[in-house]
Amino acid sequence: MSSLNGRTALVTGGSRGIGAAVALRLAQEGADVAITYVRNEEAAREVVQKIESTGRRGLALRMDAAGAVERTAEEFGGLDILVNNAGIGVLGPIGDLSVEDVDRTLDVNVREVFLGSRAAAGVLRDGGRIISTGSGLTQYAGGPGGTLYAMSKSALTGLTKSLARELGGRGITVNLIHPGPIDTDLNPADGPYAEPQRAGTALGRFGTRDEVASLVAYLVSEDAGYVTGAEIGVDGGHAA
Ligand code: NDP
Repeated sequence: MSSLNGRTALVTGGSRGIGAAVALRLAQEGADVAITYVRNEEAAREVVQKIESTGRRGLALRMDAAGAVERTAEEFGGLDILVNNAGIGVLGPIGDLSVEDVDRTLDVNVREVFLGSRAAAGVLRDGGRIISTGSGLTQYAGGPGGTLYAMSKSALTGLTKSLARELGGRGITVNLIHPGPIDTDLNPADGPYAEPQRAGTALGRFGTRDEVASLVAYLVSEDAGYVTGAEIGVDGGHAA
């Protein structure tokens, strides 16, 4: 299937985990794909090689989201898809979370998403797509420790619904996905917090990166042209 032939995409935080799977899936569907990263240059380079092995153009950018939007549009001659995937998870009892934790979390999970989306609103072609990555913890906490992380991800609901209204006239859709426990470096399926998360899902298991990438592939496709301003879980029933 090559439903994204001729399209261009930027996936923030695409060097590892969910973002890497999304980047590769979009390339397999026919898009040229840029990714951002912060530390892991080697991993970013490997993802670009995989993108290029599909015959599409790949690009790794170590820069803020807004700068990456501009740069991707320049390099690829336009932008059709922004996936706001980059995020950090700082968990713990509220009294243990420092001001630095708060600033860092809001910077990556909220401020960067807003500024990247603002830049994308300026350059996206008609019919474009913005998808942001929230969290199942905004729908159902299930336990303590998620105050800061859940608060930061909840902010994306307001952004998504309002921006869907602003950009709908151009045929641009804006949606928010809420992954449940997905096996990545951030949340390993064999980590110390894995068992209660697994037990908290209806399916009794962690999800895979590819299962999240499948939802993104649907939302960026023509088939999802009437889906906008929506929040969609990919959480094994964690919120059920
Ligand atoms: P990982 O920690 O496995 O990967 C994070 C990726 O984001 C890496 O590519 C990392 O780059 C990059 N990154 C981190 N900070 C920045 C930044 N400031 N700018 C650009 N890139 C950055 O995370 P996941 O794949 O697990 O998570 C992806 C998204 O999904 C996040 O928003 C997370 O909150 C969300 N999510 C994850 C869940 C899970 O269970 N895994 C559940 C619910 C939501 P580098 O390689 O350079 O470090």
